[in-house]
Amino acid sequence: MSIRAIRAYQVDLPLHEGSYKWSGGKSVSVFDSTIIEVETTDGISGWGEVCPLGPFYLPAYAAGVRAGLLELGPHLIGYDPCELGILNDRMDAALQGHPYVKSGIDMACWDILGKTAGLPVCTLLGGRSGEDVTLYRAISQESPEEMAGKVAGYRAEGYRRFQLKVGGDPDVDIARIKAVAKELQPGDRLVADANTGWTQHEAMRVVLAVKDVDVYIEQPCRSYEECLSVRRHTNHPFILDENIHSLEMLLQAQRDLAMDVVNIKISKLGGITKARQVRDLCVTLGIALTIEDSWGGDIVTAAIAHLAHSCPEASRFTSTDFNSYVTVSFADGAPQRDNGKMRASFGPGLGIKPKMDVLGDPVLEIK
Ligand code: MG
Repeated sequence: MSIRAIRAYQVDLPLHEGSYKWSGGKSVSVFDSTIIEVETTDGISGWGEVCPLGPFYLPAYAAGVRAGLLELGPHLIGYDPCELGILNDRMDAALQGHPYVKSGIDMACWDILGKTAGLPVCTLLGGRSGEDVTLYRAISQESPEEMAGKVAGYRAEGYRRFQLKVGGDPDVDIARIKAVAKELQPGDRLVADANTGWTQHEAMRVVLAVKDVDVYIEQPCRSYEECLSVRRHTNHPFILDENIHSLEMLLQAQRDLAMDVVNIKISKLGGITKARQVRDLCVTLGIALTIEDSWGGDIVTAAIAHLAHSCPEASRFTSTDFNSYVTVSFADGAPQRDNGKMRASFGPGLGIKPKMDVLGDPVLEIK
C-alpha cells in the first residue's frame, strides 16, 4: 500500500462565544482549519487536521499549512503511510522545520494504520488507560469579574479544570487570578496561562502577589531563560508550553527541573508520532502532561483523545475538547464532552467520518 494522493480542504470554525482572547490583546473569532486527506492505493483514506491559533501564537499560520503541503506533498507520493517512522524521516528530509505542516499528514497516516489494522489509534499508541480523559476549560481574557462569572457555567458543563488567559496588565492579572480563585470548589484546579505575555519582572510581581492562591503558573514569559528564572523564585506548580517545541528542549528543561507539567500540542511537535515520543519521555521522567493542540475541530479533538487516552492515567493533567468551542462540525464520530470528560472512540483509526458536504471541494490536490 502506498500514498496515491493528498488533498486539503478548508473549513472556517466560528466560536460559540464569538471570540477567544489571550495575552497581548491577541484574539481570534473564526479559526481557519485545514483538513488533510491522505488517499492510498488500497482505496483507504486517512484524515488529519491542522488549525493554528491565528498567525501570532506559534510560528504557524493557516495559509502556511496549505503552502507547506504543496511543497511537501510531492515527496510523499508512493510511500507507505503505515511506516510512520520512515514517513517522518522522509518529511524531515524534504522540508526543514515547519512541524505544523507535517502534523496533519502524520495524523492522517495514523488513521490509515488504524483502519488497516482494524484497531483504534489509542490501542496502537499504547492502550486505553482509564475510563476517560479529564478536560480543562480555557477562560478567554476578559475583566476579572467577567472571567470569575464564567466559572459556575463551565462547572455546570462538568469542567473542574480552569485555565485563565492572563498575560496582560499584571495588576489586572493578579485581580483575575484572585477573582476566579474565589469561585473554586474542592477538587477544582486553576491554571494561570500567560502565553508568554509577561516580562520577567511582571511575572515576578504576579507570582509574589498570588503566593497564597492555589494556582499553577503556565508559560509566564517569552524566553525559556526568563521562565526558568521565574520558576526558581516561586513555589507554584509550573507548566511550560510554548518553549517545549522539541524533544531537545524537553531534555534541557528536565535537566534544569524547569517545570512540573508540560503542555504537548500535536501540531507544535509535528504530529502524533513526535508528540508520542515527548509524551512517553515525560511519563518516564515523572512530568505530568496536558495533551492537546493549538486549535481545531472534530479531527484534532479525535486525535487528542487517542493520544491522551493512551497516556498512562497517572501522568495526565488535562486535555481539550476543541470541537465543543466551535459551531461547525465537519466529521461524525468525534469525541463529545460528557461531564467534563471525553474518551477516544472505539472504531478503527481515529474513528471519524468526514461530512463531505461540509468540507466541500478540495482546495488542493497532490498526485
Ligand atoms: Mg498554554
